[in-house]
Amino acid sequence: MQPAAAPLIDPFARAIRYLRVSVTDRCDFRCVYCMAENMTFLPKRELLTLEELDRLSTAFVRLGVRKLRITGGEPLVRRDILTYFRAMGRHLASGALEELTLTTNGSQLARFAAELAAIGVRRVNVSLDTLDAARFQKITRWGRLAQVLEGIAAAKAAGLAVKINTVALRGENEDELFALVEWCAAEGHDLTFIEVMPMGDMGGTDRLAQYWPLTDLRARLAVRYRLTDLPDRTGGPARYVRLEENGQRIGFITPLTHNFCESCNRVRLTCTGELYMCLGQEDMADLRTPLRASSDDAVLEAAIRAAIARKPKGHDFDYSRRRVEGQVSRHMSHTGG
Ligand code: SAM
Ligand code: SF4
Repeated sequence: MQPAAAPLIDPFARAIRYLRVSVTDRCDFRCVYCMAENMTFLPKRELLTLEELDRLSTAFVRLGVRKLRITGGEPLVRRDILTYFRAMGRHLASGALEELTLTTNGSQLARFAAELAAIGVRRVNVSLDTLDAARFQKITRWGRLAQVLEGIAAAKAAGLAVKINTVALRGENEDELFALVEWCAAEGHDLTFIEVMPMGDMGGTDRLAQYWPLTDLRARLAVRYRLTDLPDRTGGPARYVRLEENGQRIGFITPLTHNFCESCNRVRLTCTGELYMCLGQEDMADLRTPLRASSDDAVLEAAIRAAIARKPKGHDFDYSRRRVEGQVSRHMSHTGG
């Protein structure tokens, strides 16, 4: 790789160190808050090839990105995806990249965990909203809990640290709060709760009915445990507490109840080469055109810098007036959660 270029700094003086790459919009699940059941996916020709994803990601690393998170759709259902992981592994080996991680629904982890660990992945985020098999099927529509639990066990056996991501769903997993916490404590997994965001038209799904504010979830935790606020900020949106009774670390991602945009250090690349400077805004920059127009990376880097110069201050999600505001039309699986 060429010598490091000047880092990416946005108009609000935030240094962009973190890139999330959605490598596919496809998924083997159809979670109710993320996708409609009859999703239409992009034609394969629209997708960046694995080589193009490599070239683009490498340009970001050259421009100062230190953390890459691979997501989707479900990243592990993309054919030959380990080729891309291996390619990114070279940046870990060279020290240019500090961390290579992924967010997955866990369905394919039993197959891939050992190899991901060998490539240099140290942590995975696995999305899991319930430990009840019937409820799991209801939420994911197509998923099987046993397969995901096997995947999580495989990740742990391969030495990967597992963080569980749970979307807080009103009337759905409220009654499992303590069961999820105790399971994570027993298994040694960090646990982060996420507020449901108004993304994608879900064909009649009532977002406000799904929304369980984490202020309420936290208050319920405080009835059973002593909570100590932790200073840990990973540059990401989560705030953390420790439960004194069992040492469990709990994260809260609260785009609705507490806006965290001022410290945002990330941008998101879709599988078609669109760069979203904010998850909660419609503005994006097309990087596929400059990528394909020239083999000169200077053209690509100029397009990336121009995009970062447009990074907005923050999202406009808001439910506070008892209606959904700031909704974006893209599904989460498009931008990569
Ligand atoms: N398929 C992988 C998975 O489920 O982990 C990666 C992609 S998924 C879009 C990434 C994360 O976004 C998951 O943790 C999922 O629960 C979350 N997510 C999807 N739709 C959401 C929504 N509307 N609001 C909040 N989180 C959402
Ligand atoms: Fe698939 Fe992840 Fe969306 Fe569920 S949340 S449908 S697993 S992309």
